Amino acid sequence: MAQRFDLTVVGGGPGGYVAAIRAAQLGLTVALVEREELGGVCLNRGCIPTKALLASAGALTAAKRAEEFGVRVTGVEADFPAMFERKDRVVERLRGGVSTLLKKRKVEVFSGTGSLEGPGAVKVETGEGVVELESERTILATGSSPIVPGAFPFDGRVVVTTREALAGGELPQSVLIIGAGAVGCEFAGFYSALGASVTLVEMLPEILPGEDASAVRLLKAAMKRQGVDVRAETKVESIEVAGDEARTVLSDGETVTTARVLLAMGRRPNVHESGITDAGVDVANGAVVVDSHMRTSLDGVYAIGDLVGGWLLAHVASREGIVAASNAAGRDLEMDYRAVPRCTFTSPVVASVGLTEKEAADEGLELSSGRFPFAASGKALAEGAAGGFVKVMCEASSGRVVGGVVVGPHASDLVHEISLAVEVGFGFDRLANMIHAHPTLSECVMEAAEAVEGMSVHSG
Ligand SMILES: Cc1cc2nc3c(=O)[nH]c(=O)nc-3n(C[C@H](O)[C@H](O)[C@H](O)COP(=O)(O)OP(=O)(O)OC[C@H]3O[C@@H](n4cnc5c(N)ncnc54)[C@H](O)[C@@H]3O)c2cc1C
Repeated sequence: MAQRFDLTVVGGGPGGYVAAIRAAQLGLTVALVEREELGGVCLNRGCIPTKALLASAGALTAAKRAEEFGVRVTGVEADFPAMFERKDRVVERLRGGVSTLLKKRKVEVFSGTGSLEGPGAVKVETGEGVVELESERTILATGSSPIVPGAFPFDGRVVVTTREALAGGELPQSVLIIGAGAVGCEFAGFYSALGASVTLVEMLPEILPGEDASAVRLLKAAMKRQGVDVRAETKVESIEVAGDEARTVLSDGETVTTARVLLAMGRRPNVHESGITDAGVDVANGAVVVDSHMRTSLDGVYAIGDLVGGWLLAHVASREGIVAASNAAGRDLEMDYRAVPRCTFTSPVVASVGLTEKEAADEGLELSSGRFPFAASGKALAEGAAGGFVKVMCEASSGRVVGGVVVGPHASDLVHEISLAVEVGFGFDRLANMIHAHPTLSECVMEAAEAVEGMSVHSG
């Protein structure tokens, strides 16, 4: 006999588990189906493990730079396995936290593979047999998988995706990374900080495609200084694995031999599993089609996160989860993608929000912008992190903030002040006139807003 719930969520990543908790908070009885680990790609094989490893790389770099700060440190050495053990501890702790939160909210977790049999019907294959779930509403949150072109000899050993790269093992002495999006750039930063020789290949004209051009220029220059061989506008023609090495032939005619090739070419929504298309859910351009309420074409069935394409980001998945869960509980919420922060955790960090200059030009929107360099900030200089800038962009006619870019120290946190301005739709003058504590990096946001009218006090 089927077990009944108000809502079944399939997939326990940052989309699904957040949706399950919010639905329970709103009074629904909730079943959550997960076939691997709670927390999904983000917690187990994405955002968190990469940031934990980057923190280790950051500690190593800081120790090497200590003398600059008047601190003599000798015998600095990277312990690659210890970095991975720390990463595993962080992930396990957070995974336990998600499990506790779900228990507290009385969300019933089913460990197994869920399949949508029709509106309101989910079949779960568990280790102990099949469980049938019936519910008024269903949220599909089954995520995405890495793109692995059939022509490349993926073997999980020499030619790997981020999943294998994050599993541990030895530090590869040389790595060729295919794809210079956020993930490829972050791995390039990690490996190069540890002393590996890194080649970063991107077929598009620039790394971090779509990102602010001045931010990209700055990051590219920094990566080159860190020893990363950055090759934009370069295609991979072929990869051949021989023993413990890969020989990669590039479109510039060169063959690069490395101990590892990391495929970081993006991810594809998991539309061809979990009964999604068989149940009649509409799919277009490789993603589940949803409206602004996160409703699919099937009555009572919502979809969220990487599965619906667009921004493949954890915080977008979570927000979509909140919207879908709230609507499943009878509320009326719509997604609004105007103020999605995008962060790349390289050195320096690149963070942006809202429209880019190119998008504004495509929309025929005339922009005014103000820019402030961290080199003019007392706090940035004191912290030894004076590279980078803050840029605030607004509609020329009204002064309304429509976007911003921060490259440099704590960029991923600083960007949220600009996010708030974009979200609420207030003018740059509100950022410029707000009193910011001194000495802080946040002052740079104020100064960039002042610079929109050429009034930054601390830069020319
Ligand atoms: C290396 C890497 C680094 C990243 N770094 C960042 C970052 O810094 N910031 C950021 O915002 N994003 C980052 N991302 C992207 C982020 O991880 C994803 O956008 C996010 O995890 C999507 O959440 P989701 O809930 O839609 O899907 P997922 O996290 O993929 O979760 C889907 C879950 O569904 C489960 N599932 C699938 N099918 C079934 C089924 N039939 N039955 C039961 N369970 C099923 C899966 O096991 C999985 O746990 C990164 C990704 C990678 C790969």
